[in-house]
Amino acid sequence: MSGLKFAPQRNPPGAPPARQLPPDRREFEGVSVESPKPESMLCILCLTEQHPGREHVIPRALGGSFVISRLCRRCDNRLGRDADMGLIAQEHMVARRVRFRLKGNRGVVPDPVRDTLRSRGGYTVADPEHLVKLRRDEAGTDYGYSVPRLEFDVQEIPGNLYRIKCTHCILDERDADKAEGLVRSALRRAGLKDEAEIERTWRQFQATLVRHESREPVVASVAMNTGGHQLGMTKIAYEMAWYWLGDAWLDDPAADAYRKALHKHPGGFTGVLVSLLTADQLAGPTFMGLDDSRVHLLFLLKNEHGIYVIVKVLGALGVLFLVSSSPGTYLWPVKDFVIMDVVDRVPKQALMADVKRAGGFTF
Ligand SMILES: [Zn+2]
Repeated sequence: MSGLKFAPQRNPPGAPPARQLPPDRREFEGVSVESPKPESMLCILCLTEQHPGREHVIPRALGGSFVISRLCRRCDNRLGRDADMGLIAQEHMVARRVRFRLKGNRGVVPDPVRDTLRSRGGYTVADPEHLVKLRRDEAGTDYGYSVPRLEFDVQEIPGNLYRIKCTHCILDERDADKAEGLVRSALRRAGLKDEAEIERTWRQFQATLVRHESREPVVASVAMNTGGHQLGMTKIAYEMAWYWLGDAWLDDPAADAYRKALHKHPGGFTGVLVSLLTADQLAGPTFMGLDDSRVHLLFLLKNEHGIYVIVKVLGALGVLFLVSSSPGTYLWPVKDFVIMDVVDRVPKQALMADVKRAGGFTF
């Protein structure tokens, strides 16, 4: 098996000795660097010795193929539930999953329209009270099913007579055998107690039933989450900051603020400087011959005030995170730029400077 090789980090002259980074820190899906004893290392989130395992930095359901192995199973499960799920369900992410056929953990590509038609259904254009749901027959074919709606208006008139009018009559052909029961209970609901009159009305109703085939369009409101992705984006920034800056970063006051946010402490987000990228910032850097909406970009930047991690997910969500206010404290990593194409699923690393110099990133 071929593997990726990483040059060891070296201290610049005069710099204080940096902590040695465990060899298993760097691992890609399918291409892992040998790890002598991963079970003896601390989880980077709860900071206890908890048998760390593999963790997808960007959820696998979003085509994330970059893996770290320093998160314990308990933290991994919790983040999966709290952080990853919110990001995966965000509207832009759902749209991209549909477009690129990205399967979730259950091996299924989401289909929000069909899911809505199955669960809540939609209404026909001609009759906004005619509810249609999507059902599947024994042969596995989907069909539109009209949800029964039978309503009567019953008025008693002098002389022990009734004026009965059917105000809604929607009945699916497949429910023909249930029609009698449905009509009888609808008449009772409308206040008709006289059994002979119920029987007479049912017979009359039955005689007037006609088969009606309709191919009217159905309108459904598909609910989409516009938010809920914040924790998921924060998780990615935390894991990448550690990945690039090493264990020493775990003692940084900023890292503590991220852990509080990820543990959902009240006000946890206040310590994390978050700035949403504008559409222009989201669009750059440009990639030659590559559709921006099919890649994840992660990079580390530095100025005199701090160190920043930029997380861009599928060209739709982008956040700039401040991960340290002490830029001089850390060794600069060997690679500070990661790009993941969700179609070819092979993550690539480079130096941000090289990416800039090339004016893009060529595959
Ligand atoms: Zn943990």
